[in-house]
Amino acid sequence: MNIEQKVAETIKKYKLLKKSDKVVVALSGGKDSTSVLYILKKLGYNVEGLMIDLYLGQWSEIHNKNMIKFCREIGVPLTIVDLKKEVGQRICFIKTVLKKQKNLTGCTVCGIIKRWILNKWAKKMGANKLVTGHNLDDEAQNVLMNFLKGNILLGVNSSPATGGSGDGGSEVRGSGFGKVGTGKGEQPTADSRQPTAEGGFVQRIKPLFFIPESEIMKYAKKKKFDILYDKCPCAFGTYRVETRDWMSNISDGEKMTIVKEFQKLIPRLREGNFREIKKCKKCGEPSRGEVCSACKIFECLK
Ligand code: AMP
Ligand code: ZN
Repeated sequence: MNIEQKVAETIKKYKLLKKSDKVVVALSGGKDSTSVLYILKKLGYNVEGLMIDLYLGQWSEIHNKNMIKFCREIGVPLTIVDLKKEVGQRICFIKTVLKKQKNLTGCTVCGIIKRWILNKWAKKMGANKLVTGHNLDDEAQNVLMNFLKGNILLGVNSSPATGGSGDGGSEVRGSGFGKVGTGKGEQPTADSRQPTAEGGFVQRIKPLFFIPESEIMKYAKKKKFDILYDKCPCAFGTYRVETRDWMSNISDGEKMTIVKEFQKLIPRLREGNFREIKKCKKCGEPSRGEVCSACKIFECLK
């Protein structure tokens, strides 16, 4: 089965998308999100691109330019959100402050801010599904990182379909600001939730959840996508990078086993762990606590 068929199969099995959905694809400019946008467009979904300009110097400039060109070529509208306009600072400044004040790692801070902006903008764009390019390697790393942190509950929302009404996704996942958010009951398929942003979360969809990074790399190169294949220049010395390096000798088959076995545990982990979603009293976005993780970051920047 090729990667396009595998994506179609994941979408069908987990009921991730309908042809009537308004789908926003979060584009980093890397191979994963570029490939998933291309495949969803090819499969006939109603897709738009959404990219955050993180102000990472030349790296961001090249990624932005590449995505503008790519989206134009495949006929997909693209929205680029300016981080400085949105939150007042560049990502490097935000990470430095948070490292100093809260000892939070760069990837954690960046992840919270990206999720906050993507959810807010996906709603603004009228989307009912928000697609990311997370792949099998990302998910296997998450399982292991959470295990090594001594808290497998952190992965309780790990699924090809998270968020939307009822479960709230992984908004506080490993944020360092609070306990993990958890949902209840069976592993969700997209259709088991309201397909709108009820509860404030646009449902997040990961069509590449079961696709190894090596296959996506081959696909993107075969398709000759004109993109950068480098890793994020900020991601060094972080727990994720260490875990990724540590897992570099693990085969794709073993990664699949790690992820699939963990998926089987999730329904049991969810039992008795339901936490209500509130509205952040500062920004109005969904939150597990009174104030969301992103607003706690913004507080530190004042
Ligand atoms: P990362 O956390 O960098 O591994 O990215 C995981 C996924 O988040 C990517 O596949 C994209 O779907 C999304 N993403 C990452 N960076 C950005 C960005 N700057 N703008 C929009 N989406 C992003
Ligand atoms: Zn908030």
